[in-house]
This record gives sequence, structure tokens and C-alpha cells, in this order.
Amino acid sequence: MTDPLVCYRCGNQYPAARQRCDCGEPLWYSTGPVESSLSLDGVSRSMWAYAPWLPVDRPAHGIADDIGGTPLHRLEVAGGNSTLYLKNEGLHPTGSFKDRGSAVGVTAIADRGVEAIATVSHGNMAMSTAACAAGTLLDCYVFVPSDIPVERIEQIGQFGATIVRVEGPYGELYERSLELESDRDVAFVNSDSPLRTAGQKTTGMEIASEFAARRELPPVPDAIVLPVSSGGHASATWNGLCELRDAGLLDRIPRLYLVQAAACAPIARAYDRGEPTVTALSPEEVGETIAYSIANADPPSGTRALTAARETEGAVLAVDDEEIRDAKNRLAREFGISVESSCATTLAAVDRLTESGELGTDEHVVLVGTGSGFKERTAGSGGSIAPTDVSIDDIASVFDDHERS
Ligand SMILES: [Zn+2]
Repeated sequence: MTDPLVCYRCGNQYPAARQRCDCGEPLWYSTGPVESSLSLDGVSRSMWAYAPWLPVDRPAHGIADDIGGTPLHRLEVAGGNSTLYLKNEGLHPTGSFKDRGSAVGVTAIADRGVEAIATVSHGNMAMSTAACAAGTLLDCYVFVPSDIPVERIEQIGQFGATIVRVEGPYGELYERSLELESDRDVAFVNSDSPLRTAGQKTTGMEIASEFAARRELPPVPDAIVLPVSSGGHASATWNGLCELRDAGLLDRIPRLYLVQAAACAPIARAYDRGEPTVTALSPEEVGETIAYSIANADPPSGTRALTAARETEGAVLAVDDEEIRDAKNRLAREFGISVESSCATTLAAVDRLTESGELGTDEHVVLVGTGSGFKERTAGSGGSIAPTDVSIDDIASVFDDHERS
């Protein structure tokens, strides 16, 4: 592919495939000016509607061809001030937004003639990469920690990937994987690799398209709220919106609010302290959280995500497990939407932002529900879900309270 890789911070460009700038920050693809005949004319069936902005042609095989086009649900929140929507990324084939980046990664790597794709993940990204590579000519390797639960191995392994259990500090694998790429015939598509972020920028592009096309909505949402972990998705969303603006298709960029779990919030800490870069949390600074899939103590795209929040005049905030659990339950009970706990942080954040006046009463706000709750072991009800026990001869008694007098 001829699209150059660009550093958001120093503007350096690199013609060949690589992951990071000499300054240390992650790179993203710059597709340059797109055809002026394109328009944001509605909800696309798949992310490939945005192919002019992607460093790859449409895939020819498997689920990768059908990624994207997820629904934007309207949430009527009782007593809520702003108008809320949820972009339901959990409806993807493997239940998370990761499918967007995996689809681009698999397609681009196959095009380049590299024989193997790999990723460092034991969660959504692992399953997504394995599923998108299934049935292609690519060998797929997934590097997981040695203490991975058996059911997770089953979930990833069902797609035929080679699962590599690694002894030793798992947190170092990201850096080690970048070294491996240079001397083996393998390409890693990790959380913030340029190929993955290229696919993930289509989340923001689809949101913008839907607002542009639906007459009952304003042309651009006022704010987008995302859970943030590595910072790759948040950065990519910012990138995608900026590219639409640069193409003359978007008048302004929505404010980006990024949310972490309070037990592990290095980006929120840097934001609160007004620091220019994100520094890793030490093991003593990290606690347990039900939003474990966004508990990243050393986010590789943390500084870029922090920049996205600041540049768009949004913010980074952290919410605690009680708020997350409450928000997750509300999304399920009031709207029938089961999200991963990590995504419930977004609704919890909206409560905070509304209370503080940061979100105005007439604003249109989109939450990004990055993953399905159905992959979590429990609904996180804290034991509040209790069945009614009844003998088979007494089943009618269940409805006694509903009898009309
Ligand atoms: Zn740079």
C-alpha cells in the first residue's frame, strides 16, 4: 500500500510498514485527500463504505467483509438532560469493536504476502483476530498469558488459531512483539497497530454519517463518549473524524470524552494533573475492577488518546465499580442492551458530566458500546438476580399477583 504512516505529534512520515515513530509515539495511516464525490449519505451496511480512507481494498473472504454497520440506538433516559445514543459495537460477529481493526489487519497482511498474523491478547482482540483470519491463507498466532482460563482458550481456539501460552511478564510482550516483526515473516496487529487503528476509525465515521443523514438529528453529535484502555480506539475515532473534516464532510469535531475504571486509570490521572504525557501505573497503584477489559496500566496509545480528549475539548474521567455496575444494569433493564462492563463506564460518565454541567441539556451525546455483555461470565448484578422457585404443580401461583380482583 502506498499510504504513508504519520505521527500525530511531530508530523513525521514513513513510507514503509512500521508501528512507531522515532519519537516513540504510535503511527497511523494518512490516506490524504479523498475523492470529492463522496458524501456522508447514511448508514452503511459495512465499514467498507469508508474504503477510500482505508489502507487496503475490500476483503474477499469470511466475516471481514461484513464488519461495521452497527446500529445507533436512541436511549430515552428518565430524568436525563441530554439526548443519548448508543453505538452498539457488541453486535459484531465476535461481539466487539475489535472486528473493525482485525478485518483491515487480516486483509492488508494477506495483500502484502506476509504468511502469518499475530496478536498479543487474551480477550476480545484475540477472538476477533482469530475469527477474521479463519479460513484465509494466513496462519494466526495468539499470544496469551500462562494463567489464561480454559474457557478463554476454547473461545479463541475455536477459530483454528495457534494459541501460545507465554511464561513471564505478559506486559512486556507488546514491546517484544514489535522486535519479532523485524526478523520473522509475521505481522502483529496489536491494540494500536496502524492497521488496527485504521479499521477502528470507521466507528467515528459511521456515527458521523448517521447524524449527517438523519433529518431528525443535528448534523454532528456534540459529544462521543468512549471507554479507553490502550488508547487505540479513542485515537482512531479522533483520526477518523478529523479525516472527514479534512475532506470537507464534517463542519466540526464532537468533543471526545474518554472513560476509565477508577481502579486503573493512568490516562485520567495524567488528564487531571495536566501532564503532557501518560505514565504507567506501578503494580501497587492498580486495583481490581469489573471492567477488567479496559484495565491497562501502561496504555501504548495513552498519550495520543489524552491528546484527542484535549484537542477536541473533551475530557478523560474515571468511574468506580459501583457506578459501572449501576450503569450496566440500567442499560440492560431499561433498554434491553447487554454491554460489557467496560462500556457501562460511558453511561456512568454521562451521569457525572451531566451533573457537573459539562454536558448541556440540549446536547446530543453518543456512547460507544464497545463489547457485548454476553461474553462476560456474569451480568454483574452483584447477586441481585434471583429466580422464583416453584413446584410443577404450583406454576399457576406465579401469576397470582397479576390476577384481576
Ligand atoms: Zn513522532
